[in-house]
Order: sequence, then C-alpha cells, then structure tokens
Amino acid sequence: MYFYCEKCKKQYPLNSHSYMCECGGLFRLHKDSSDELVREISIGEGETPLLDFRTNNQDYLLKMESMQPTGSFKDRGAYTLINEIHKIGIKKIALDSSGNAGSAIAAYATAAGIECTVYIPDDTSKEKIDQIEAYGAKTVKVPNGRMKACAAAKMNLGDAYYASHVYNPLFFEGMKSMAHEIYRQLHNDVPEYIFMPVANGTMLIGLFLGFMEIGRLPHFVAVQSKKCAPLYEAFHGLPEEPKRTTVASAIRIEKPRRLQEMIRAIKASDGDVITVEDTDILKSKKHLGERGIYVETTAAAGLAGALQYFKNGKPDNYRVVIAITGHGLKR
Ligand SMILES: [Zn+2]
Repeated sequence: MYFYCEKCKKQYPLNSHSYMCECGGLFRLHKDSSDELVREISIGEGETPLLDFRTNNQDYLLKMESMQPTGSFKDRGAYTLINEIHKIGIKKIALDSSGNAGSAIAAYATAAGIECTVYIPDDTSKEKIDQIEAYGAKTVKVPNGRMKACAAAKMNLGDAYYASHVYNPLFFEGMKSMAHEIYRQLHNDVPEYIFMPVANGTMLIGLFLGFMEIGRLPHFVAVQSKKCAPLYEAFHGLPEEPKRTTVASAIRIEKPRRLQEMIRAIKASDGDVITVEDTDILKSKKHLGERGIYVETTAAAGLAGALQYFKNGKPDNYRVVIAITGHGLKR
C-alpha cells in the first residue's frame, strides 16, 4: 500500500510526513488485492443496526452509526487509520477536528499507545472536549473557526504525523466498511437511496469507494444546513453565500478540501445535494428522541432531508437508508 497524488500520480509511503503532494494534489490510496488491512487495535467497533423506522406513512432504514464506541461514524475511519499507522511505527500524531473525528482518533490512538494532539475550534462544545481529553489526548483551542484549527494543526506539526480524517486516505479506506455492512444487512443488495449530513465528505466519499467495490451505487443525497452549504452551492453552480453558524455544528465546514471528489461521487450516483432549515433539523431531532433515538443535532439532518425530499410521497419499493451519524450525548 502507498499514497499517490490524485494529480501527478507521484507516490508517497504511508509513513510520509507529507500530507499532500508537493504539486498541491491530494493523496489517494493504492492497495493491491493482496494487501490486508491490520485489525489489531479494537475498542469494540462492530456492525451497527439498520433499524426500520416508519414515519409520515413512509418506511425508512436508519443506519445507527451513533452506536459506535465513541458515538459517531468516525470510528470506522479512525480504526483503520490508527491500525495501519501503528503497524508502521508512528508514535505521535496531530489532527484538527470539530469534535467527532477528534474523539474517534484520540480513542484509537490511546488504545494503540500513540501520543495525540487535537486542534479544535474554541467554540467546540464542552462535552466534545471532555470526551477527547478523557482519551488522554491534548487539546489546543483555536479561535475563529474550523479552517483556522486546520491551519494551526498543519503549522505546528513538528515531528507529529498528520492523522487527518480529511487528508489521510487511510481514513476513507476505513469508512468503506459502512457500505459493505449495509449491503450485507440488505441481504447482498444495494439500497435505492442513502441520505446523510455532509461537511468534509468523509462518509460520502467512503461510501462511494465502498459501493464501487461492490459494483453498484445507491443514489447519494447529501444534506446541508441552509446556513452553511458550500457543497450545495458548488454542485448546483450557485453563487457562494456567506457561511453562518448552524445548529448542526458538525457540518459547519466553510471550505471542504475534497469538494470536487464529493461532487464526482454524487454525480456518479445520480444523486443530489439539498439544504434544510435549522428548524427542520431540530424538529427531526425531537421526533427521533420521541421514538427513543437520541442523536447529536447534526445527525438529525439526514432525516430532515429525506422527509423534505419525499414530502410529496415516496415509492414503497424504494429502500431509503438514513445515516444517523452521531449520538445525542455528544451534543
Ligand atoms: Zn502531485
């Protein structure tokens, strides 16, 4: 296995302290059919339920990623990323995160005995900071938003490996397992639709790569808040609006790094990007809670999006999966 540049194809080893190509291109992962992923460090990750959910006289399937060990889907990527870099001897990492990736990577890192520093926006919720620190990681609060946290992490790397869930393709490699799991849970079949909240696109790109291995794509529908919708604007060729604070803090990314990759994945799936009102996200969160499913606010955006998309009816034979991305205890 090795990284290669998406633009000029230059190769880099997995332990490279470069996190992107000198030409400015992002890394992708080359894996031979004989390459096996390491599965040594575990904190109890496993198959998450695909739950039947009937609402508005429509049937949906909730993919309960909130039930992962640290409470979000990011554990899939963290599991593979940390297992692989632990094997090649990385002892010290740094990353930036709005919270969930930080918790996931910090948890697997401490289980692997890897020293971890997480750069977070200074308005990250106390619950998320407490969780990252509970795993023994050092947190550095950076003012002025998520993009500044990213810049600070890259600037202060020193001898640390940049274990970024956005730049490092090993993270996306781990996310593929979600596609394979959904396929198995549907008795070796691909659903018609998958709705998910999208910011940096880690789940979207991971699902795309996973379903490509299976050989068939569902329609991917990415859901963003009307207050911060860079993918929606780029996908539909709309002018860029000023980005505002949304209740869906985990999808408040103003300039996602892999925007073009996300657009390619959605187009290939004949999917769509939609926006929802913050009030509808909160309504969906409340609705899920009343049904016994406590989710992080951002995680309700997928349901809000599906209900809006199918407001005039949904064909009964469409199997529509909605990704429940994070647990309510995280806030
Ligand atoms: Zn290059």
